[in-house]
Amino acid sequence: MNIVVCIKQVPDAKTVRFDTEKGTLVREGVEAVINPFDFHALEAGLQMRDTYGGKVTVLTMGPLQAENALREAVSLGADKGILLSDRAFAGADTLATTYTLAMAIKKLGPVDLVLCGKQAIDGDTAQVGPGLAVRLGLPHVTCVNALSVLDDGKTLHIRRINEDGYDILELEMPALLTVLASLNTPRLPSLKGKMRAGKVDIPVWDAGELGAEPGRIGLAGSATRVISTSVPTFKARREILEGSAEEQVKALVFRFKEAGFLNA
Ligand SMILES: Cc1cc2nc3c(=O)[nH]c(=O)nc-3n(C[C@H](O)[C@H](O)[C@H](O)COP(=O)(O)OP(=O)(O)OC[C@H]3O[C@@H](n4cnc5c(N)ncnc54)[C@H](O)[C@@H]3O)c2cc1C
Repeated sequence: MNIVVCIKQVPDAKTVRFDTEKGTLVREGVEAVINPFDFHALEAGLQMRDTYGGKVTVLTMGPLQAENALREAVSLGADKGILLSDRAFAGADTLATTYTLAMAIKKLGPVDLVLCGKQAIDGDTAQVGPGLAVRLGLPHVTCVNALSVLDDGKTLHIRRINEDGYDILELEMPALLTVLASLNTPRLPSLKGKMRAGKVDIPVWDAGELGAEPGRIGLAGSATRVISTSVPTFKARREILEGSAEEQVKALVFRFKEAGFLNA
């Protein structure tokens, strides 16, 4: 089984701060980590490979230091890591990100399964998985929290969480899935894996290597423009309602309607 796992390096949520004056994340001195959901995508890929054979290739688009994320993925058992890095990729929105990732996956040759996290904890759009599936012409299922392969070896049996409960779905590979943290428990790196990760060659593919059109990558290929960002402010208000229980309930319902929590 030829499996590709897309991982993103994100700022460590435990240390990240927001510059309220500039309206930007303070990235200086903040450790970069693998997006938490992507560990679960990787674990799903590794379990598939361990059961059915094949190889797991991990892809990330990011700055040169994102190589660390790929080495970590190799230490956990990935067979290969490829870094997509080029100054021209900077400023990519999800449109340009999915184009770049799709070009790389096409260059890798036929794949059976592409795995992504449900969402990145910084960009938070959850658009990359579905967008990538469209670009690759693959069927996809999001928010997967249980996964197995039927006896035919090519049909995925999936539980997908939705707002009301869950769906049980069957999907023929090749396909793309985005996964939830509840899908599995990621393994820890082995000593052998760590040693391999230190030595493994991580190829860097730039725009030229991908044959990417300049107008479809990075800021030039992005349809989105960030006008401003801000941290929402919450104003706490305290009020003690007076009167009988009935009067207090009436007053409470009135306040809820006023605040839009209940329909008027
Ligand atoms: C105008 C504009 C400029 C931007 N400039 C920058 C910038 O300079 N630097 C920056 O970091 N962000 C930038 N962003 C944010 C950027 O759009 C997103 O980080 C990126 O497109 C992925 O979207 P997301 O983080 O919401 O991922 P989601 O869709 O939430 O991610 C879902 C899954 O997709 C996969 N995935 C997502 N991104 C990658 C990736 N890069 N490589 C491999 N797999 C991935 C992972 O499996 C992840 O779990 C910019 C956005 C806009 C609109």
